[in-house]
Amino acid sequence: MKRIALLGATGSIGRQAIEVIDAHPELDLVAATSGSTPIDGLAPLTQVGGDPTALLERAEPDVVLNAVVGFAGLVPTMWALERGVTLALANKESLVAAGDLALAAHARGGGGLIPVDSEHSALFQCARLGEPESLVLTASGGPFRGRTSDDLADVTPDEALAHPTWSMGPKVTIDSATLANKGLEVIEAHFLFGVPYDRIEVLIHPPSIVHGLVRYRDGASIAHLGHPDMRVPISYALTYPDRAPTTVPALDLTARPLEFHEPDLETFPMLALAREAGERGGSYPCAYNAANEVAVQQFLDGRIGFLEIAPLVQEVLDRVDGSPARDLADLVEADRRARDLVPVA
Ligand code: NAD
Ligand code: MG
Repeated sequence: MKRIALLGATGSIGRQAIEVIDAHPELDLVAATSGSTPIDGLAPLTQVGGDPTALLERAEPDVVLNAVVGFAGLVPTMWALERGVTLALANKESLVAAGDLALAAHARGGGGLIPVDSEHSALFQCARLGEPESLVLTASGGPFRGRTSDDLADVTPDEALAHPTWSMGPKVTIDSATLANKGLEVIEAHFLFGVPYDRIEVLIHPPSIVHGLVRYRDGASIAHLGHPDMRVPISYALTYPDRAPTTVPALDLTARPLEFHEPDLETFPMLALAREAGERGGSYPCAYNAANEVAVQQFLDGRIGFLEIAPLVQEVLDRVDGSPARDLADLVEADRRARDLVPVA
């Protein structure tokens, strides 16, 4: 039996994780949390809101699946890494923000760190065949692929929430529309695989079938293909190193062409801003994430327009003190300072 603690159980990833856990008798859900939505009839240990540390200590999980959205996922990420409990990580924001602090905790704890984000799950599987030369992350392009800035001035939250290939929670869906999601994923890949930013490429791939690709020095490239269905990477992370069966059907490669394009960095500046934050290092990625979280919420609340998200994040990156966080308290402070720099709309 593998004891699973699930954080963010009521969300998009959380609900799909419960489906995966229910399908495997050897997976035992021993603890579950959510942010504010009640959790009905799940694990014997459940909690809504608050610090999950005491719950995790009592549950003694073998695997922590962190499916919380946003910087709020920091506590369970650091708890699992520090204690050497296997971390199945959907909450990319915590790794982006904590960066070197998370890697140091991982080194001290010595446990597993298995990405659930589909692109990183793909890269994790493709990167096991040698020393990667470079990585390719794919992006669907979101609902506004092919549009120009002029087209995007008046788009509504509902239009931005209509993702063409993935069904996800609201924050990551808006991030997919701005390409901030791919920006966060470039930083996530840098920390997960130790590859420098100039060797992490992003390609727009509308069908969302090729999730990631690793290039090796002999000219070979290894790609991971599959339907856009998060139950596959969730199942991989929870049953690793076994590859348990799922009900996801086999891929029909004749269904549609697998085309790839360069991203439009002018219309979608959040991708370039993430690279800039990543290259600057220190707590700049934390500031990028914090400013983006605030700006996305303002957009979802109808207080700012879609095109105002990137300039707000740019402004915070220009003004913030991005020196490295020495410890977690420092990091929480860096997150708060970046949030405070976003003007109230
Ligand atoms: P969601 O909004 O559907 O669910 C978020 C979950 O986190 C909910 O259970 C919510 O109650 C909980 N939560 C929110 N605020 C919290 C807080 N302050 N403290 C504790 N819990 C809180 O989000 P999602 O789409 O499931 O995404 C979860 C994470 O997985 C995100 O980091 C996202 O980027 C990542 N991810 C999601 C997908 C996807 O398909 N949904 C794919 C790849 C990565
Ligand atoms: Mg992803």
